[in-house]
Amino acid sequence: MKYQNFLLDWVMHGISVEELFSLLNEGKQSTPINGREYLFKNFPRLEVFQRDGCRCICCGLVGTKAILGGQAIGIYAIKNGKYIPITLDHIIPRSRGGPTSSENLQTMCKICNLIKGDRIMTVEKLRKKITR
Ligand SMILES: [Zn+2]
Repeated sequence: MKYQNFLLDWVMHGISVEELFSLLNEGKQSTPINGREYLFKNFPRLEVFQRDGCRCICCGLVGTKAILGGQAIGIYAIKNGKYIPITLDHIIPRSRGGPTSSENLQTMCKICNLIKGDRIMTVEKLRKKITR
């Protein structure tokens, strides 16, 4: 019953990023929720989120919640009661041939990522843009 509550709570409100990381680090591949199997392996680039501490490299927003949606797990920061997705940014955009490798990825909140868009931009330049 405790486990059921845990799963329900996860779907509704998420679990902490620390809990997610410990599940993943234990090597858990999936977990059944409401008769559906949720695959952790779909989780994108765990090592990048861990390396960056789930912190937006630009504005410093920190993702604290891992929430299941569909088949994927998303990481969210909570700011003024709003859930802001923490995403991965391609330093050299995919459209310009940037690879999806850890070296070319950095943690960025959705807001900063949208501002950066398809450009190649240093973090300093991007910070200036968002504080204007
Ligand atoms: Zn940001």
